[in-house]
Amino acid sequence: MSPTTATGSFSSSSSSTSETITCKGVVCWAAGEDPKTEEIQVEPPRSGEVRVKMLYASLCHTDVLCCRGFPAPLFPRVLGHEGVGMIESIGEGVSQFEVGDIVIPTYLGECGLCENCSSGKTNICHSYPLQAFTGLMPDGSSRMSITRPPSGDEVVMLYHFLSCSTWSQYTVVDANYIVKLDPRLALRHASLLSCGFTTGFGATWKEAKVECGSTVAVFGLGAVGLGAIEGARVHGATQIIGIDINENKRKKAEAFGMTHFINPSQGPAAHKSISDLVKELTQGLGVDHSFECTGVPDLVNEALEATKVGKGKMIMLGAGTHNTIAINFISLLGCRTFKYSVFGGVKVQSDLPVVIHKCINKEIQNLDHLLTHEVQLEDIIKAFALLKEPDCVKVLIKL
Ligand SMILES: [Zn+2]
Ligand SMILES: [Zn+2]
Repeated sequence: MSPTTATGSFSSSSSSTSETITCKGVVCWAAGEDPKTEEIQVEPPRSGEVRVKMLYASLCHTDVLCCRGFPAPLFPRVLGHEGVGMIESIGEGVSQFEVGDIVIPTYLGECGLCENCSSGKTNICHSYPLQAFTGLMPDGSSRMSITRPPSGDEVVMLYHFLSCSTWSQYTVVDANYIVKLDPRLALRHASLLSCGFTTGFGATWKEAKVECGSTVAVFGLGAVGLGAIEGARVHGATQIIGIDINENKRKKAEAFGMTHFINPSQGPAAHKSISDLVKELTQGLGVDHSFECTGVPDLVNEALEATKVGKGKMIMLGAGTHNTIAINFISLLGCRTFKYSVFGGVKVQSDLPVVIHKCINKEIQNLDHLLTHEVQLEDIIKAFALLKEPDCVKVLIKL
């Protein structure tokens, strides 16, 4: 099989190819190292798989964690789990997609039949779970490799990331981890829906089931937190408290529907706990729902303690490289609920198209406010630097 080089524009009328493609992809070689844009090889899709020409991707905090070895130190690895692209070729037995379909690669699947899927209570499917720990396709092999200099003839297998590896001009994805996109949604917005924003929005909708008139606190106002604020607003929460140490987030979050802002690093607030500050804004009771979007261990307790005794729910959405988190037993004794959620409880086949539709019909209004920066794939290092800028929310990566 002779390799082809990915140059020139892609036409939706292109037929399936059975050749390996050489293209650019972002590789992290070892934990703690800066990722590099490299020339990599992407094999054709095997049975049940599709190869996607990526059009846009975006940077999520989990990619930063991946460079540190989260959730498993598998290197070298092709990064990226947010993005949107066009199906370039199709493996045997894939009947639900066609070449040219615009799709979103996802890190969860949904079979609709397993015990979890049929329960309607969770988005964690037994048949197509999070592919986080092997870095391989479901059949246990990789479709990506790199010919390593200086010898130029050593072919090194590349691990995938979260069944997506979207920071590559081409990627191979199991067809069970693909969602077809309604073309009415702008591609630049579609990329943002594949993780962060939807995780926050979904947590208010599918996990907390925020009701009209309820009170909400959101810890951390990045894309996940802003998604939670948008979700709280759409579901009729009357008091939406945002918490962030970055003052620039105040204006941004107000545009999404935040009603109160706490900056725990400034003024008198710096001498009080965040949970006390939330209680001061809620007649001493705390909120009905809190969303922990940072993964900072100390904030998990604050987010739990900030909810009402007896019926408060804390949904944790943030991730970190720590193995354990200490939970304050006194807060648990208040009979609060603590739930972790991946992708905000959103089922990729049943619910993600609903989120997409809400964006198209403008029920979800603020995706443009998320998009603060844009880089080319070659400038991926710049994307990591931009993420540290105070006014940055999402960096779009053009492939
Ligand atoms: Zn299932
Ligand atoms: Zn993510």
